Amino acid sequence: MTQPVMSKPLVMLVAALALPVPALAQADSTKPPPPDLIPQLVARLDLERYKATIKGLTRFGDRRQGTDRNRAAVDWIEAQLRSYGCSDVLRLKYDYQPPAPRTAGGNPPPRDTSRASGGGRYRGIRARTGVNTDSLKQPDARLRALDTPPSVAGEREEVYCTKIGTTHADEMYIVGGHMDGIGWGEAANDDGSGTALVMELARVFSAPDVHTDRSIRFVLWNNEESGLNGSRAYVEQRRALQGSKEEPKWLGMIQHDMMLFDHGMPRADGTLAAVQRPEADVNIEFQSSSKFAAEAQQLAWVFHAANEKYATDYPASVGSHMTNTDSAPFQDVVPAISLRENERGTQIGAGWDPNWHQPTDLYTTYNDADFRLGLNAAQTTLAALAGLVGATIK
Ligand SMILES: [Zn+2]
Repeated sequence: MTQPVMSKPLVMLVAALALPVPALAQADSTKPPPPDLIPQLVARLDLERYKATIKGLTRFGDRRQGTDRNRAAVDWIEAQLRSYGCSDVLRLKYDYQPPAPRTAGGNPPPRDTSRASGGGRYRGIRARTGVNTDSLKQPDARLRALDTPPSVAGEREEVYCTKIGTTHADEMYIVGGHMDGIGWGEAANDDGSGTALVMELARVFSAPDVHTDRSIRFVLWNNEESGLNGSRAYVEQRRALQGSKEEPKWLGMIQHDMMLFDHGMPRADGTLAAVQRPEADVNIEFQSSSKFAAEAQQLAWVFHAANEKYATDYPASVGSHMTNTDSAPFQDVVPAISLRENERGTQIGAGWDPNWHQPTDLYTTYNDADFRLGLNAAQTTLAALAGLVGATIK
């Protein structure tokens, strides 16, 4: 039987993304289409609110995992989520024991430094990258003192909440960012910017007049910087619970990690442009070697289309080398993508962000052109999700 409304690829796309097919199939009826409510939802995001949420997170310094300042930040995030009216605010608990330090005799296996992490290929000029471990490189004595207590091994917690769907509450998208940081700064960009984005989305979707067919879980991962331990713990503890009352079935996972800074490629002397480049973009990545590569790519293009239609300032680009963030533990279980200021492997890995894991990752380092890139990423995910979960305003 022929399908009069949808082409076969579209049907497959819709099936893969669990979009409600009947809703699309009704598009050819004589009734006018319902008004597009997504612009109203997107308008509920606001640059000053986004900045204030990032600033709130930077009050806890680098929020390094296993410290009091990290636990205080988790408490603050939880209080914010509750104030937004987000449902079922819960914590995932796990134990973290850092790996034993490498012994002097055991040389690490040689690494191919010509290939970027995630499988991409470096082009052009590369600048130095690394993690700052020198407290004295933080000139602000107050912040240096705040960031000083070291991480202690043991129990960890990370907080999440859920927008509960009205017709398919048992299916959900997982939307995440990591709240821990390193480097003797304030982790404003890495990853205060992604954490604030997820919190702002939780606020918009939790408004009493917003309804969704499917559910959305907002998760603020801990222990990303130590090796994705918080997201791995979530996958380990909850993967098998899918379909039970406790854990809706996972439809996809969307991660946000470093959303602010796209000043372009380093110059030959290793320096960067002082301001956001006008052609800055939101980089949406999937991993081409993952088990769900085809579905993840389709999901990435849904986000790209949402950006084109609804984001106010900056465009999006799709790439195939998602790596080194909390979507990785999900990538062989469900379609998973990440949103970032730059490609993680070929660009961040080539020194495009000089504040990455450095004492300069401070709220005051960034200006409105930078914060606006993060806001555009928020608009992109909000709009894409609103379509995927069937959001309405009543
Ligand atoms: Zn990060």
